[in-house]
Amino acid sequence: MSRSSSIHSGDGVLRRPSQYVSMDRLNDRLAVMSGYGATPKGGVNRQALTAEDLQAQLQLIRWGAELGMQPSSDSAGNLFLRCEGSDPSLAPVLSGSHLDSQPTGGKFDGVYGVLAALEAVNAMQDAGLNPRRSIEVVSWMNEEGSRFAPGMMGSTAYADPNSLSEMLLVKDAKGVSVREALSLIQDGLREIPCRSLGGHPHAYIEAHIEQGPLLEQQNAVVGVVSGIQGKRTFRVEIIGEATHAGTSPRSKRKDAILAAVRIIDALANRLHDGGDIVKFTVGRLIVEPNAPSVVANRVVFSIDLRHPKSAELTLLGDLILPFCEINARPCSVSLTELSNATSLEFPDAIRDRIRSIASTLKIAHIDLLSAAGHDARYLHKVCPSGMIFVPSRDGITHNEAEYTSAEDLTDGARVLADVLGELST
Ligand SMILES: [Zn+2]
Repeated sequence: MSRSSSIHSGDGVLRRPSQYVSMDRLNDRLAVMSGYGATPKGGVNRQALTAEDLQAQLQLIRWGAELGMQPSSDSAGNLFLRCEGSDPSLAPVLSGSHLDSQPTGGKFDGVYGVLAALEAVNAMQDAGLNPRRSIEVVSWMNEEGSRFAPGMMGSTAYADPNSLSEMLLVKDAKGVSVREALSLIQDGLREIPCRSLGGHPHAYIEAHIEQGPLLEQQNAVVGVVSGIQGKRTFRVEIIGEATHAGTSPRSKRKDAILAAVRIIDALANRLHDGGDIVKFTVGRLIVEPNAPSVVANRVVFSIDLRHPKSAELTLLGDLILPFCEINARPCSVSLTELSNATSLEFPDAIRDRIRSIASTLKIAHIDLLSAAGHDARYLHKVCPSGMIFVPSRDGITHNEAEYTSAEDLTDGARVLADVLGELST
């Protein structure tokens, strides 16, 4: 029995799963999936825990059955298809993404990662490979967060099972709770065995469309995702004094607008780097009383700060308060942090593996950072994780016009197949 992800055929030629990835099969399955929740404009409306989502899950289970894969689902509505390895006691390799979409979503966001993983398993079987570790294709519940906010519920609950109880209470616009919607899905999947929530996989790899323009601009087909950018958001409130623009002496004024200008200018200079890595944005400014001849007595503005390295994001975000205090005088200022999502970097070992496989396959690739969140953000907490991006035409996504060519989708699946082959060996 071969214990390698690549084997030598009779003529001594190295055989890898990527050689058995089928463009037709992958694209036929994508076309079938885009029929579940198809919109008149060629997109998809397959929101989480709807009848369309259930249909897509049942279709995935049927395809898995053809490959001898065992389905199971957990209490968070995540669906798994297991291809048993020669040593079932080993931690499995997970790969997938999500089947749900935005209300006017495209045919590729999420579903591509699930079907690319299925294609990788199919290719490994066609190659006659028998990996040691089991491979599990996964579809995470409610990644998009359009029907039930926030998104990435299934992967969050998988990484932290204690978070599920609160999620179940979330309601959609019609007042239906996640718990109620989930029970309808579970009823439709009653033949499928339940598994306990959570786990400690050997690794997790997610293929996804880029949802940005960088691959296309740089003529690359595969993106080796370095990490997911973190973000801190703040509200700054400055309190001054409303006085007459003609009679009040300048030296005695507490001008909230001038204080805001000083603070924003100081921060924009400090939170700037030569490489354009730090992203600092003041996108909203509210002035009171907002009258041409009155010195402003109150200004509120927003800060959106992003950096790919968590330590830097923390350091830079923590500079904001002292800068506000120094520059607000003689006004008073208060700073409120609204959110703090840390940046993450995927492990070098996973990134190196993806990069070297793309090189071996002669597929043009670049390293890039994901500016958007993905399920891999949460899997990163429980196992070594990584992501493979393929191009999005014109960077368009969450849109019915979302498009990636069949060739690019296939190249991404070929890289994924060999990565999963190596990780499961
Ligand atoms: Zn997605």
